[in-house]
Amino acid sequence: MAVPIKLTALKGKIIAIDGPAGSGKSTTAKLLAERLDFTYLDTGAMYRAVALFALRNGVSVNDANAMEQIAAKVKIEFKNDGVIGQLIYLNGENVTEGIRTAEATHGSSAVAVHGGVRRELVKRQQEMGKKGSIVAEGRDTTSVVFPRADLKIYLKADLDARARRRFLEQTHKGENTTVEEQKKLLTARDQNDSQRKESPLTQVSDAIVVDTSSLTIEGQVEMIIKHALKAFKRG
Ligand code: C5P
Repeated sequence: MAVPIKLTALKGKIIAIDGPAGSGKSTTAKLLAERLDFTYLDTGAMYRAVALFALRNGVSVNDANAMEQIAAKVKIEFKNDGVIGQLIYLNGENVTEGIRTAEATHGSSAVAVHGGVRRELVKRQQEMGKKGSIVAEGRDTTSVVFPRADLKIYLKADLDARARRRFLEQTHKGENTTVEEQKKLLTARDQNDSQRKESPLTQVSDAIVVDTSSLTIEGQVEMIIKHALKAFKRG
């Protein structure tokens, strides 16, 4: 049964959700934001948008200077569509689907290693967080973007569970893949994200760890809301 939400206790708060690829961050954060009537900040979508711009314009995602310049100049907007949910626009064009291709996914991970790109995107994300009432999701949201978030959640799940989720997602999109292939891709992204010098994926000490391996999305959202109500009652 749904937990009754005392919206007034949560209003204005910043909730940051972190964790590895496939841990359920995006779906959980999106649903949580909906339930709380908060803004959903998908930080990964911003790295994806920068990567997509580079790929389309033949710029190498490994070129730190060029990527920093691109990050500084592209216009990235989130817009809410009552039916589909959140849409992302790159220089005025709807790229909601374009940023989810395998190339953009791979490119985003490469783009995210550049310090200049991160500084630019983090600045924009912090600006968006100023009004509060936000659920921010992404690998450095608890450590770098919102180190003083009111609630920090670290989602984790075992590799098998994450690979199965990705396999279902990708096959649903019509892609031809296997669970084994998804395991390999996730392992590579985990390595890239946790071993990079700039803002590696880390579990901060004051984050509440939620293991999502055997939870449904609805179960994850319920659990976070319970943690939120408990934390905010204390605070
Ligand atoms: O979360 P999502 O899979 O959309 O992120 C795409 C890539 O962007 C990740 O693999 C990661 O390398 C990078 N990223 C990041 N910091 C964030 C969000 C995403 O480095 N806050």
